[in-house]
Amino acid sequence: MAVLVTGGAGYIGSHMVWELVDRGEQVVVVDRLSTGFDWAVAEAATLVVGDISDQALVEETIRQHEVDAIIHFAGSIIVPESVSDPLGYYLNNTVKSRDLIESAIRCGVKHFIFSSTAAVYGSPDSFPVDEGARLQPESPYGTSKMMTEMMLRDCAAAHDFAYTALRYFNVCGADPQMRTGQSTRGATHLIKVACEAATGKRPHMEVFGTDYDTPDGTCVRDYVHVSDLVNAHYLALRRMRAGGGSLVANCGYGRGYSVLEVIDAVKRVAGTEFEVRTGGRRPGDAVAIVAGAERCRRELSWQPRYDDLDQIVAHALGWEEQLKRRNRQ
Ligand code: UDP
Repeated sequence: MAVLVTGGAGYIGSHMVWELVDRGEQVVVVDRLSTGFDWAVAEAATLVVGDISDQALVEETIRQHEVDAIIHFAGSIIVPESVSDPLGYYLNNTVKSRDLIESAIRCGVKHFIFSSTAAVYGSPDSFPVDEGARLQPESPYGTSKMMTEMMLRDCAAAHDFAYTALRYFNVCGADPQMRTGQSTRGATHLIKVACEAATGKRPHMEVFGTDYDTPDGTCVRDYVHVSDLVNAHYLALRRMRAGGGSLVANCGYGRGYSVLEVIDAVKRVAGTEFEVRTGGRRPGDAVAIVAGAERCRRELSWQPRYDDLDQIVAHALGWEEQLKRRNRQ
């Protein structure tokens, strides 16, 4: 029996693979290596290079490895890119998820965990935002993920099939053992970008918008350590295997930091200065978004271990240094 991780060579997926391996699970990864790296999973899992919409390949993989659960990370994740290329996002995130779900159902895989996003809420009317809030995504990225959640909901009603959709807030940090981390080239996520600036990989960075209606004028986000996040997936897997049924849950800590607070933390932890420029707002950005985090803790008995911004930054910086040493970026 094995767990199929799609996008397992990517940032979050590779942490998931290690979490599963640490728990004694067999893991098979399907990844087309468009942004992921084979070395990120080579030691831990069987890697099948291919697309999640290649149903012949996926179904053969499911049968060959006796897959009982799919954890689905493969997809595109950059909000502004989705604004300029909506159809690309609907293809990668929605259409291909549909194909994968169909393969799962056809092969009798009963447990499906989906990597959803807080972007399904858009700019919520209030925060913390809980799972009952109205879904009003403000970017094609958020809409593409919301549509997949809806497909899963309808399939769970129609078939012997359960799903967990975890709505991620801002995922960051790296494996504390430094076995994997965020290696994406041309990354756009705030902590990664700031760590690249702190380690001299980029000459400066930019703050996108300082005129938001927040205490310091910059956007507020709930930054969650990737190792805590993948642990929530493992707990969700256990819950579903025990017959727990479908679940939609936020995955964040319930606390927000502004862009400037994050940059300060990176400078403090790195013990270095770097140039920070002020720029205009970035398309598709929500003002402030912080998780109502109760459901995840209650339903999954999730107990985060790395809920500390400085520790998150220290792990992210550690990985950045490691990439530099290995000459990988
Ligand atoms: N951000 C920024 N400069 C950067 C990258 C991000 O000011 O180089 C801001 C971005 O506008 C947003 C916040 O940081 O307000 C978090 O963005 P990120 O891309 O990390 O995640 P998102 O919330 O878009 O998923």
